[in-house]
Amino acid sequence: MARIVSTQVEPSPALERRVKYIRDVDRIPNIPDEEREKLRKIAGKYAFRANDYYLELIDWSDPHDPIRRLIIPCVEELSDWGRLDASNEAAVTVEHGVQHKYPDTVLLLCTEVCGAYCRYCFRKRLFMNDNKEVTNDVSAGIKYVAEHPEVTNVLLTGGDPLILSTRRLRIIISQLRAIPHVRIIRIGSKIPAFNPFRILNDCELQDLLRTYSTPEKRIYLMAHFDHPRELTAEALAGLAKFIECGVICVNQCPLIKGVNDDPDVLGELYRKLSWIGCTPYYLFQGRPTAGNEPFEVPLVRGWQVFEEALTRGSGLAARPRFVMSHETGKVEILSVDDRHIYMRYHRAKSPENRGKFMIFHRDDNAYWFDQLKPAECSHLPVGVDFRRLSGNGKRNGRLRRRGLTRARDRRPADLRDHP
Ligand code: SF4
Repeated sequence: MARIVSTQVEPSPALERRVKYIRDVDRIPNIPDEEREKLRKIAGKYAFRANDYYLELIDWSDPHDPIRRLIIPCVEELSDWGRLDASNEAAVTVEHGVQHKYPDTVLLLCTEVCGAYCRYCFRKRLFMNDNKEVTNDVSAGIKYVAEHPEVTNVLLTGGDPLILSTRRLRIIISQLRAIPHVRIIRIGSKIPAFNPFRILNDCELQDLLRTYSTPEKRIYLMAHFDHPRELTAEALAGLAKFIECGVICVNQCPLIKGVNDDPDVLGELYRKLSWIGCTPYYLFQGRPTAGNEPFEVPLVRGWQVFEEALTRGSGLAARPRFVMSHETGKVEILSVDDRHIYMRYHRAKSPENRGKFMIFHRDDNAYWFDQLKPAECSHLPVGVDFRRLSGNGKRNGRLRRRGLTRARDRRPADLRDHP
């Protein structure tokens, strides 16, 4: 018997739209008045920004809606936890708005604005009024890259580079392309999730990408989708346009409590990304950033969620690495057993740490590298003072007196003391 094939056609997304940006929680009618009062205070500390397209993805009937959690402030952000520059980016800032941590890669922080502000952002300090780390004038950065032939990769970041006008982007990208040793230009952006119309409605931007993403030297989009619900028909059309323009698309996102810390959700995200040609690249352990306590997941649980999520798709959906962007480098969490956590430097700032394999005592309450206690047999990384938080040394005396050295008591509040 012949199979009956459904002729129902998915409704086409509206691909023309000018999104409206919203900077004031008072302009979101779905938030009740009494809640809005509290949120105003939080938004006064950590900036708020959203847009009407992304707000429409929220299910307001669900107080735990993951999209809501991503951009609407919550009172727990005010807890006294973490540091504004949790992985010490100041230490690798070589010029105004220029970071150089690994020999081959330079970051240009070219704007402090994004399509919306993620509540868990590790660079939220950039959105504060008194922060001057970013510069719209990247000429010092371009000059720095030109003078360093070892730099083959440049990452445009911020903020979100795709918030810049196409005219500004053309100046930056054409200047980078004129430097022969720059092979890869990366654009780190959440605009494909926050505002896919940025690419869909801008033929000039499409032309720019087609011109400068060449068979010999590609432009990469380091997309940032956190949850499968962000992969709307419009977002898929936007990603298809990037690909059509010759851009290689990959995805990186942090593990976020209440958003994607569930193997079903993360697995679905990875599966769908692999289907559409935007393969998952990194899953980041949340940095201990001020204001981010409500979004943090302990390391061991994070690894369990990640491992389980990888089983939900094909090999292409299982490509990401679970890493901590620590000030000493990208530390990959390889495995966890009953007693130990196994890690390796995937990228290291110091040559002594490159590729180093390390073993730590398992600690289900630890959130970050420095909180762990190295196993006696392990190689030790250079430049990390585990004694600060793991229960040895001078500080340990103070902690012991306060009864805080037991693993279960090493509360995230200790992360305030990160170097
Ligand atoms: S888009 Fe990126 S830089 Fe902007 S708020 Fe989100 S995480 Fe931070």
